[in-house]
Amino acid sequence: MKALAILGSTGSIGTSTLEIVSGLPQQFRVVALAAGSNLDRLAEQVRQYRPALVAVACESSARELVRRLGSAAPEVCWGPDGLRQVAAESGADMVVSAIVGAAGLVPTMAAVLAGKDLALANKESLVMAGELITREARARGVRILPVDSEHSAIFQCLGGNGAREVRRLVLTASGGPFRTRPRGTFATITPEEALRHPTWSMGKKVTIDSATLMNKGLEVIEARWLFGLPVRQVDVIIHPQSIIHSLVEYVDGSLLAQLGVPDMRVPIQYALTYPERHENAVPRLALDRLAGLTFELVDHEKFPCLDLAYEAAGTGGSAPAVLNAANEVAVHQFLACRIGFDEIATVIRKALDAVPGRSLGSTQDVLEVDREVRERLENH
Ligand code: NAD
Ligand code: MG
Repeated sequence: MKALAILGSTGSIGTSTLEIVSGLPQQFRVVALAAGSNLDRLAEQVRQYRPALVAVACESSARELVRRLGSAAPEVCWGPDGLRQVAAESGADMVVSAIVGAAGLVPTMAAVLAGKDLALANKESLVMAGELITREARARGVRILPVDSEHSAIFQCLGGNGAREVRRLVLTASGGPFRTRPRGTFATITPEEALRHPTWSMGKKVTIDSATLMNKGLEVIEARWLFGLPVRQVDVIIHPQSIIHSLVEYVDGSLLAQLGVPDMRVPIQYALTYPERHENAVPRLALDRLAGLTFELVDHEKFPCLDLAYEAAGTGGSAPAVLNAANEVAVHQFLACRIGFDEIATVIRKALDAVPGRSLGSTQDVLEVDREVRERLENH
């Protein structure tokens, strides 16, 4: 039986992960959970899964959770140190990293340093510190199993084949809700419109990232670190139906793809059970009912965020961390109606130009860059 610690248990990925645990009670037990401020859902999860350790965002939430659970309360910790404890000191065999944003970096790194296998959904940590995380993972024999559907597809299509046999990775993108909307109207896009994703149901931040295509940009960088290929060998193609989850093109011209209904429970489960496969309740893909799968090239004028991500990846060093932090701030400002949808890319462009590049030798260096970008942008 595998012991799991789940970071971000109340979110979209976290709750799907717990559904999988419920469906495979012989395979998994939950030893620790960490979440931000949704105490209602967290208390419910604690009652159902009985973890020995729980982390919340702050001390007052910790007190409130203990009060609500009464005699059923496990050990409750809080803040960044609480996240670190859940990741590294809970006796887990595997850590599911599903906090959103830069807040996922420290616990993800803590899990790797403690030698825990990772089921990784928090792509932002690889964008910010991919070189450091993958280096430490290699040194400790830690496995990083992708939860992101595109990376799970590529992982499955690679099937252990070496990078030398691969010509390129092709990440598919749904194109988001604005694929066919005229660019001239982008300034008037509302948060409500941007939160209406055509094929996937996800947390707010990744949904906005999908609408700008920054999500695909972050995924290009994520793929670069997970699979050890330069970004020039990572391409993106629009595939609005989200049935083909990504492809690998080999040097002999052979293309392998992984298909399925768009449901995150499939890639999450595969990361948890790898190398085994198990039954689940996910609807099957009826091939005879697939009217037609379509593909189109990305409109780079309409979606400048993708090029910004390629540029930052090419620059390397601190640039991807700057990109990530500026994007988080810009998404937050857009959701708060402080900037227009079309200004998200402008904010990121300015940050990339303004923050001097440097090399990143430690997590501390990465956090320093992250803080500097946020300070600069928030004081504007
Ligand atoms: P979400 O917003 O639904 O959930 C985020 C979780 O993180 C919540 O449990 C929240 O409480 C927790 N959290 C946030 N800040 C925290 C903090 N400072 N301390 C402790 N906990 C904190 O997000 P999501 O959609 O589940 O996405 C999670 C990650 O997975 C993101 O990195 C996203 O890019 C990635 N991802 C998500 C999907 C998806 O389908 N939702 C698909 C692929 C990748
Ligand atoms: Mg994805």
